[in-house]
Amino acid sequence: MINTRLRNGHLCFVEAERATARVLILGGTADTLELAQRLGKRSDVVMISSLAGRVSQPRLPAGEVRVGGFGGVAGLIAYLETEAIAAVVDATHPYAAQISRNAELACEALGLPMLALARPAWTKTADDLWHEVADVGAAAAFVHACSGKVLLSIGRQGVAAFADCSQAAFVIRSIESPAPPLPAQHTLLLDRGPFAIDDELRLLEQHGIELVVSKNSGGEATYAKIAAARQLRLPVVMIDRPRKHTAAALHSVDEVSAALDRVLAERLRRAVVTQ
Ligand code: NAP
Repeated sequence: MINTRLRNGHLCFVEAERATARVLILGGTADTLELAQRLGKRSDVVMISSLAGRVSQPRLPAGEVRVGGFGGVAGLIAYLETEAIAAVVDATHPYAAQISRNAELACEALGLPMLALARPAWTKTADDLWHEVADVGAAAAFVHACSGKVLLSIGRQGVAAFADCSQAAFVIRSIESPAPPLPAQHTLLLDRGPFAIDDELRLLEQHGIELVVSKNSGGEATYAKIAAARQLRLPVVMIDRPRKHTAAALHSVDEVSAALDRVLAERLRRAVVTQ
């Protein structure tokens, strides 16, 4: 039945739908690079990666890339419509909550499928000395009462929350300099992962670090500091992940690719049914 209708003039339309499925990846993480690389090899999708533009020299994903905010939910809706996006993959960092909420609302408004890629969070082992806190503010409140050397490894954003922690001396590590205000006693280390365990052990020992503050980013690239802290029996203030959206998280590029197959097959089925 479907084949007959396809032969009668609808094949081109359906094939065009299949060939031009434009998929937006919301990125800003190492996962985005892998995702764009892998999904970009598929013949049935055109991938467009979106970066916020926070880093002046970002690692660019393969394929088409756009940079900068959309202008809230309304701006994102307008972009998705103008660019005829068929599906959105949210591969943003686990702590980038705003863009994920915006994406969910925009996709809901347009009836577009949204897939979410999130690395599983690190889990505490019996040998870890984690003090788990809800957010950056709670981490700063905890550190406020501490003296000694602190490795602040939470990225550039959120560092200002520690500006009033005057008793501790910080080693702040981020890809680019955080905006002021910064804590009075600090050393800035500009560096980008992945980091190896031996280098992290050396860093902690050379600076005499007594406390590590970290987000629970998951993945391999920045886990070495957690393993190194465990090895040296150092406490870690671990900041919990924010709630991003209601979409069930996929944990690997393979899972995203398989889910995309289902989403695009459904899109194709609907295109055929509406003929
Ligand atoms: P956020 O708080 O969730 O987003 C703030 C605003 O930045 C969004 O409303 C959006 O602006 C814009 N934005 C964020 N991600 C975008 C993207 N991929 N493409 C286009 N616009 C985007 O995000 P954030 O925590 O500032 O993080 C910014 C970016 O850095 C994210 O892409 C994230 O993956 C990456 N990153 C964040 C962290 C972290 O710890 N937060 C760590 C590593 C990497 P409009 O409302 O104007 O659209």
